[in-house]
Amino acid sequence: MPLKLLSVLEMPERVADRFRARTSLVQGRLEDAADVQPDAILCSIGPRRFDREVIRNLPASVKAIATYSVGYDHIDLQAAADRGIAVFNTPGVLSDAVADAALLLILGAARRATESIALLREGRWTGWSPAQLVGEGLSGKTLGIFGMGNIGRKVASRARAFGMRLAYHGRSEAVGEDALFYPDPRALIADCDIAVLAWPSTPETRYFIAADTLCLAKPSLILVNIGRGDLVKDEDLIAALRDGKILAAGLDVFDNEPQIHPGYLDLPNAFLLPHIGSSTWEARLAMADVLLDALETHACGGQPHNRIA
Ligand code: NAP
Repeated sequence: MPLKLLSVLEMPERVADRFRARTSLVQGRLEDAADVQPDAILCSIGPRRFDREVIRNLPASVKAIATYSVGYDHIDLQAAADRGIAVFNTPGVLSDAVADAALLLILGAARRATESIALLREGRWTGWSPAQLVGEGLSGKTLGIFGMGNIGRKVASRARAFGMRLAYHGRSEAVGEDALFYPDPRALIADCDIAVLAWPSTPETRYFIAADTLCLAKPSLILVNIGRGDLVKDEDLIAALRDGKILAAGLDVFDNEPQIHPGYLDLPNAFLLPHIGSSTWEARLAMADVLLDALETHACGGQPHNRIA
């Protein structure tokens, strides 16, 4: 008997077909769980949080929650563990896609993509000039990576090809990385030319970028956030971008998304993407496969590598 999987997220048909090939997939709402009596719930990040109350109200048939994401800050893992519900995520398989997007954000911010696109689309371009939209080169610049995990390491390998110098902060020194380790993230924000936030949202990382850290940064800093929106205090970053305290930002994730702070929308030095970091077909299909493998292994009594509760 295939696993009965209740999916509470919208998926492209190609991805849904992947799940249908190996499960009995029901598309629905969490409120339908009592009627469906699924073995597992497929969810992702979004406004719907799997807090203790939501988890408590799941029917007894539910043995697993599979989140179609690496981040799991939307799930109360302890509440799931307390009910004996296993939780799985999708580490590793989307890191290339997200690292590609990080480079897009770095380049978009450094080369003034927001202003360039507006100039063309608004019909204001009067022709090439050496003074027009002069941006920043990457070669020789110091890239500070906050979180040298799966995504951070992929960002590093791309940055090497651009001739950038590497520095990073993590909770521990990553062995074998040709990058300078900073035990103090505040020292790294002060020293780097480009900062990439590739951290998860945790009580320690939340709102790390705020007025007190931005005032340490060089005025030429380019800040990129590919991790989670709540790593950044929006009002403080918007003020720093508006007042020239830092040069530019490239953001894929936002606090309280999709209701992003309106202050970003008028800033010519903010290059913004709507959380598309992992949006490639390769990543989307691989994310399905890694969750399907985990659900099947777990159902047979095995220990999937991507079990987080
Ligand atoms: P990962 O492999 O677990 O890497 C996370 C890194 O952050 C690790 O190096 C970890 O250090 C470090 N870290 C964690 N907590 C920390 C703390 N309190 N202080 C300092 N460093 C800390 O995860 P990943 O796959 O690279 O993903 C990272 C995050 O990216 C996810 O959690 C998610 O929020 C975000 N993400 C975004 C997108 C997108 O579409 N934009 C897509 C996927 C993921 P240790 O080595 O010490 O554990």
